Amino acid sequence: MQKIINPQDLAFQLFELHEVEQALGYPRYAEHNRETLQAALDLALKVAAEEFATHARLVDEEEPRFEDGRVVMRPEVRQALDVLRDTGLMAAGQDFERGGMQLPAAVAQMCVGLLKGANVGTQGYAGLTIAAANLIMAQGNEYQQKKYAEPMMAGRFFGTMCLTEPHAGSSLGDLRTRAEPREDGSYRLFGNKIFISAGDHELSDNIIHMVLARLPDAPPGVKGISLFIVPKILVNDDGSLGARNDVALAGLIHKMGYRGTTSTMLNFGEQDGAVGYLVGEANHGLAAMFHMMNEARIGVGLGSVMLGYTGYLHALEYARERKQGRPVGEKDPLTPQVPLIRHADIRRMLLTQKAYVEGGLALCLQGAMLVDEKKHAASEDQRQLAAGLLDLLTPVIKSWPSQFCLEANSLAIQVHGGYGYTREYPVEQFYRDNRLNPIHEGTHGIQGVDLLGRKVSLAGGRFYRELLDRIAATIGEARGIDRLTASADQLERAVRALAEATTTLNAEKAAGKVEQALANASLYLEAFGHTVVGWLWLRQAIKANAGLQGNGGQTAEFYEGKVKACEYFASYELPKVVTLAGLLNAVDTTALGMTDAEF
Ligand SMILES: Cc1cc2nc3c(=O)[nH]c(=O)nc-3n(C[C@H](O)[C@H](O)[C@H](O)COP(=O)(O)OP(=O)(O)OC[C@H]3O[C@@H](n4cnc5c(N)ncnc54)[C@H](O)[C@@H]3O)c2cc1C
Repeated sequence: MQKIINPQDLAFQLFELHEVEQALGYPRYAEHNRETLQAALDLALKVAAEEFATHARLVDEEEPRFEDGRVVMRPEVRQALDVLRDTGLMAAGQDFERGGMQLPAAVAQMCVGLLKGANVGTQGYAGLTIAAANLIMAQGNEYQQKKYAEPMMAGRFFGTMCLTEPHAGSSLGDLRTRAEPREDGSYRLFGNKIFISAGDHELSDNIIHMVLARLPDAPPGVKGISLFIVPKILVNDDGSLGARNDVALAGLIHKMGYRGTTSTMLNFGEQDGAVGYLVGEANHGLAAMFHMMNEARIGVGLGSVMLGYTGYLHALEYARERKQGRPVGEKDPLTPQVPLIRHADIRRMLLTQKAYVEGGLALCLQGAMLVDEKKHAASEDQRQLAAGLLDLLTPVIKSWPSQFCLEANSLAIQVHGGYGYTREYPVEQFYRDNRLNPIHEGTHGIQGVDLLGRKVSLAGGRFYRELLDRIAATIGEARGIDRLTASADQLERAVRALAEATTTLNAEKAAGKVEQALANASLYLEAFGHTVVGWLWLRQAIKANAGLQGNGGQTAEFYEGKVKACEYFASYELPKVVTLAGLLNAVDTTALGMTDAEF
């Protein structure tokens, strides 16, 4: 049986908690109904279980190699990606007329999430291709859309995102790759990029690199970065392939996890310059790239959730099967051993994993719902509000799962004991794969600074206040349900503590003490994330309570498990917000105050 997701939870989260069917009211999704959405999810789960999960271990053990100038990898990767393309899942969120399924964002994201939970390495090629194609669709002209994005959405060309350079990772304003204009309107690019995922392979006819570079007269810093399409093989006007472009694979990087996706060092312009085409306006490249980041970061968060989720399901099965020891108080060594799940500490670790991964899933799907609301809600005001809330929540959606669903992976190893530390069981791979997520697409530290330094104050704090209002409304609703009042009280305490810390830190910023205010931004991110996930747990419990009254489609055990997981999160996790907020409120600068020599 697949151990990628609990199908009851998938149905509960999409159809009961987030009421994704409401999105079917938007004209874009009018042709869908519950059955078509479910059919897409069923298909994605089948492909994930039968085509992706089956070689996840193989691509980890036998990572891509660089031989005679070529990238060599396991054939299963191509077979799985062919199936993905042939089923139409490659373009799950794209328009019907472009060969896509035109699914609501939450369902499209979930289809991708299932593939990530099954095999992040192989999914990486498709994920980057769709991200790059979306970027061209959003920022490129019609000619570029037709010539490059359409073959990408059809799975004929694959894509990459080329931002990072050896000396410019988090600090993209320092990137040096240069783009020289030519008379025919094209550019020649010169520079070195590092860590480029899927930067070379033979899985597709061509690879379209989306490259950030500087024009000769560009202003310094982030305001002087432009975006270019740089094909590996030049594409003729009729769509046929032409000459090889001046893009060279300088080598592969060998990694801790995510091993199935090639990580490359690419040299642009070792000879006459790599031919590139400007996308959008000159010097607006970073903004163009970030235009797509909200959705890409939901993808990172959801990937993290799904790796945590599959780890949890593996740990759960192991805990049910492995027998070890006897209940506390049973002194007779002749009595049979009990399964691990009967031990209190194992139950605590399983419940922590459940609380993290199901809470993280609710968070990511909330983000995906806002993506549709921001594009399709009826009024301009609703669309703006959704866009603002999504902006505010994006660093949380990217980072909270990267931290806590990774912790879930660590707990899954712990449940397996010594066996979890061996390569005989997949939980160690899930941990290694997930360890990337706090690093790429903006590190954890950068997300913390983004949230506290910028996002909470957007539009004078309007979206932050809106979020607190929505949380307060849920607390009010939960107070009407006897069983949930204690959890509602815990959440209220957390919100109050977070709000106090936010006011203090905003005042520090306003007083010019920005470095002190942001010194513990990562801890602020953690406190903020826990509060938001606590809110989503309370919402899950309210829906589960309704389910227990007969208003839902899942079993009583499932709903009971949801309410208890909410109670657990409220009692064990939310008090951490109060502790963290206390530290933040005191504007503690112990680490900042250390001199370099004192370390
Ligand atoms: C497996 C993998 C795949 C990747 N795929 C791609 C890809 O496809 N395309 C691409 O362009 N890049 C890719 N990257 C690169 C990735 O985005 C960078 O590694 C990341 O942005 C961090 O940059 P860096 O490694 O140079 O670390 P640095 O920027 O040197 O950061 C090191 C540490 O310092 C902290 N730090 C840095 N600056 C600050 C600051 N101002 N305030 C607080 N803390 C700070 C960081 O949070 C981090 O903890 C990938 C990386 C990996 C490992």
